[in-house]
Amino acid sequence: MIVNLLGKHWDLQFCKKLPRLSDGRQARGWCDHPDSTGKTIKIRDGMSDFDTLRTLIHECQHGADWTRDEDFIDRFADDLAVIMELCGWKRVPKED
Ligand SMILES: [Zn+2]
Repeated sequence: MIVNLLGKHWDLQFCKKLPRLSDGRQARGWCDHPDSTGKTIKIRDGMSDFDTLRTLIHECQHGADWTRDEDFIDRFADDLAVIMELCGWKRVPKED
């Protein structure tokens, strides 16, 4: 699906496999640079709803502000996901 972040568009995909990180773990998410063509945001399929939410928040922050510090993005995504869960937000399976 095509998603919009501050006037730029990414193809948001849920994928079984994502690239390996430098420490060997498989990434939970991936966001292409906002100025690249054909850019994608990829979210690993099959994670818990909470991990999917925080990964979506994390990767969308990269798209919105590529210069933002990784530690800030990670902490903010975790905190916002917890707040949303406390407020009752939960994933509802999408019907095709
Ligand atoms: Zn990141």
